[in-house]
Amino acid sequence: MARITLDHIRHAYGSAPKSPKDYALREVHHEWNDGGAYALLGPSGCGKTTLLNIISGLLQPSEGRILFDGKDVTYLSTQARNIAQVFQFPVIYDTMTVYDNLAFPLRNRAVPEAEVDRRVREMLEIIDLSGWAKRKAQGLTADQKQKISLGRGLVRNDVNAILFDEPLTVIDPHMKWVLRSQLKRLHKQFGFTMVYVTHDQTEALTFADKVVVMYDGQIVQIGTPAELFERPTHTFVGYFIGSPGMNVMPARIEGSTVVVGGETIALDYSPQINAGDRAELGIRPEFIRIGREGMPVAVNRIEDIGRRRIVRADFQGQRIAIVASEDAEIPAEPRITFDPAAINIYANSWRVGREA
Ligand code: ADP
Ligand code: MG
Repeated sequence: MARITLDHIRHAYGSAPKSPKDYALREVHHEWNDGGAYALLGPSGCGKTTLLNIISGLLQPSEGRILFDGKDVTYLSTQARNIAQVFQFPVIYDTMTVYDNLAFPLRNRAVPEAEVDRRVREMLEIIDLSGWAKRKAQGLTADQKQKISLGRGLVRNDVNAILFDEPLTVIDPHMKWVLRSQLKRLHKQFGFTMVYVTHDQTEALTFADKVVVMYDGQIVQIGTPAELFERPTHTFVGYFIGSPGMNVMPARIEGSTVVVGGETIALDYSPQINAGDRAELGIRPEFIRIGREGMPVAVNRIEDIGRRRIVRADFQGQRIAIVASEDAEIPAEPRITFDPAAINIYANSWRVGREA
C-alpha cells in the first residue's frame, strides 16, 4: 500500500494549452494517506477519470509529478506502479471461465496454485458467483461481468492501490448496495489505499473516509462527510452535497453582520472580505428555523418526505429551501431565523473562514 502524492499536476488533452479552460485538470496538489478510502466525487466532465488515469499510469500528466511513498512514478507503467484498476464497464476475458478470469492476475504474478485457489474461491463468494465458476464469461449478463471485473481488481493483496472508476454503474440497485458494503469491509480488512470515482453523493458519502470533491478540473474540497456538510469550502460543494443542497444568496458584509436584500443578520464573527469581492451567504436548509419569529418569508410549496418536510419559499427575492420536522407548525405569516453557527460566508465562491 502506498501514500500517494500529487505534486502540482495539470493536464490538457490538446496541445499548447493557453487558458485554464484548456486544462481538463487545472492544478491538483495533494497528498493522500496510505490505506485511506477516498471517493472522487463530482459531476460528469469535471476531470475524475483524467485524475484516476494519471494515478494509475494510463495517462501521463502534462505537468507535475506523481509519487508513491515519496518515489517518483510519473513515467512508470500501471504494471510497474502495481495498481489494480476497475473500470466503469467490464474488462474481462470472454473465452476464459469465471474462475480463470479471477485467477489470471494471481497466476500472472506466479502465486502458488493452492493460494490462487483459496483466494479465487473467497472472491467468488464475495461477488456472489460461486455457482458460476466453471462457466465461460461469454454469455454472462453485464452485471455479472462487472462483478468479475471487480473481483479481478480485488483478488490481489499486494497492490499499492486499487482504483475504481464508477464501477457500479451497470449493477442493479440492490446488488450495488451489497457490493459497496463488501468493498468497505474488504478495505477495513486489508487496509489498501482505495480511490473510488463516482458522481453519486450517496455512494461517496457511504463509502469513503475522505471525499474529494471535484469541480471544473479542480479539487475544491477534501473532507469527511461531516466537514463537507457543515463547512463547504466552495459554494459548489454546498449545492452538490445535501438534498436539497445549501441555500446560497447574494449578500453584503458589514462588519459582523451580513445583509441579504433588506434584512441584516448578525454573525458570530467578522468575515474579512476584499472590496469588489462577490459576497454570498450560504446556509443549509436544515439550519433554517421556520415559525413566528425572525424574518418574513413567502411559502410556495411544502413537500412531505417521510419524517421531514421541505418548505420551498421566497426570501428577499431568493428561492430558498427549509427543512422542517413533520410536526413543526407553519403559521399563516411565517418567519425564519438562521442558526448563526451554521452560516457560511463566501467571497467569489470560496468560503471565508472564521479562523482568519
Ligand atoms: P469525468 O470522469 O469527471 O466525467 P473526464 O476526466 O473524463 O471527466 O473528462 C474531463 C474533461 O476532459 C472533459 O471536458 C472531457 O471532455 C475531456 N476529455 C476526457 N478525455 C479526453 C480525451 N481523450 N481527449 C480529449 N478530451 C478529453
Ligand atoms: Mg469519468
